Amino acid sequence: MRRRDGEVQVAIVGGGICGLTTALALEQRGFTVAVYEAASEYRPVGAGILLQTNALVALETLGVAAEIRDSGMPLSGIRIRSPRDRVLQTFDVGGVERTEFGYGFVAIRRAKLLAILRERLNAPIHTGKRCVAVSDPESPTVRFADGTRIRPDVLVGADGIDSRVRETISPVSTRSLNTTVFRALPSVSLDQRGEPIGFEVWGDGTYTGGAPIAEDRFYWFATAPPELSETASVDDIRSYFGGYPDPIPAIVESLAGDEIITTGLRDLPALDRWHRGSTVLAGDAAHGMLPFAGQGAAQSIEDAVALAHAFESNATVGDALTAYESVRASRANRVRSESHRLGQLATMGTPVAWRVRNAVVSALPVTLFRRFRRRRVADAAVPTPAGPDGADADVGSGGGEFV
Ligand SMILES: Cc1cc2nc3c(=O)[nH]c(=O)nc-3n(C[C@H](O)[C@H](O)[C@H](O)COP(=O)(O)OP(=O)(O)OC[C@H]3O[C@@H](n4cnc5c(N)ncnc54)[C@H](O)[C@@H]3O)c2cc1C
Repeated sequence: MRRRDGEVQVAIVGGGICGLTTALALEQRGFTVAVYEAASEYRPVGAGILLQTNALVALETLGVAAEIRDSGMPLSGIRIRSPRDRVLQTFDVGGVERTEFGYGFVAIRRAKLLAILRERLNAPIHTGKRCVAVSDPESPTVRFADGTRIRPDVLVGADGIDSRVRETISPVSTRSLNTTVFRALPSVSLDQRGEPIGFEVWGDGTYTGGAPIAEDRFYWFATAPPELSETASVDDIRSYFGGYPDPIPAIVESLAGDEIITTGLRDLPALDRWHRGSTVLAGDAAHGMLPFAGQGAAQSIEDAVALAHAFESNATVGDALTAYESVRASRANRVRSESHRLGQLATMGTPVAWRVRNAVVSALPVTLFRRFRRRRVADAAVPTPAGPDGADADVGSGGGEFV
């Protein structure tokens, strides 16, 4: 597609992780981009996020992975534990992903991640622009709540799981899982001897865990067990999780009521199509998934890089969007299915079921998990930008020999 002459004007609705990463990827390839974000401003609030290796490998192609790693907490591993503190599995990301792909996992504040992406971007970010309707996806007109309209050449809907842009491409409803997640970033000093490590405790109908995010901050999450409603008080949360293995009691003890973010889990059915005409979806708008695989943002970042690559390497908008969808939809839907299976595993409610699960998970060979984790990164097949001479981009992040 022609670029650098400002000919293709791309509008991105939604300035979250996906929208900003997509804007950065397109801008770096010479396209003219503008972001339209509903929120009136970016505020330094919110929870943490764990960026897995495939996310960082994709961000590396945009030149931001190292800054993100250095602004968060690189983890040497993730430990899966039972409520009686038996280690069921250890994912040695420092020894596998970091060694083989250059990046392990990083825990970072969401607000910090968004700030880094914004700082790198030259394109305008118009805040206070809530999209209320899109007419004619072939040649889109976007209407905002403030009465203004735009008519971009290409419209990217990166407006999250409740996407308005999606209504014009693939109108479907989200599905509630009747599960609530608590998240917080309590200020707590933990005894973190050795390299920082994240953990999950797979309990009886709930799972909880997190990772250090800074010297004295911990990113904590937990699904609410049946005993706790989404309106549970801090005292209820403390008394429920107080019996969990260390350091959970210290973490819940340091929670302050106004710091807890409560989210009802929903997901999106796999969409029949991701684009129509010159309008396309990315991120949660295309594949909002459950958080159990820790991959929602990672898949959104993969979308961003793949979409920019498709723009760069196809002659027409139609060809570019078709190529993007064919690369990304199958991969994202596979990861989405994994997030379901992991969710079912992690939140098993009956004592017999979770005891069997914990026994099986601890008996599985470490090599099986390693193979799975290598495949997770290698399957991303992240394209790198074309060289200055327009030579074809490399596809893949290395590591192909391991699968
Ligand atoms: C509990 C939980 C834990 C998670 N943990 C992880 C994790 O550890 N690792 C990971 O990779 N993923 C994780 N995820 C998933 C991750 O948060 C999402 O996949 C990711 O944020 C999606 O980014 P996005 O930009 O597509 O959507 P969003 O983050 O939802 O951003 C959408 C943006 O669009 C804006 N917007 C919405 N509607 C409009 C509109 N009509 N007009 C204009 N703008 C609009 C919103 O204000 C927002 O800024 C988790 C999710 C949950 C629920």
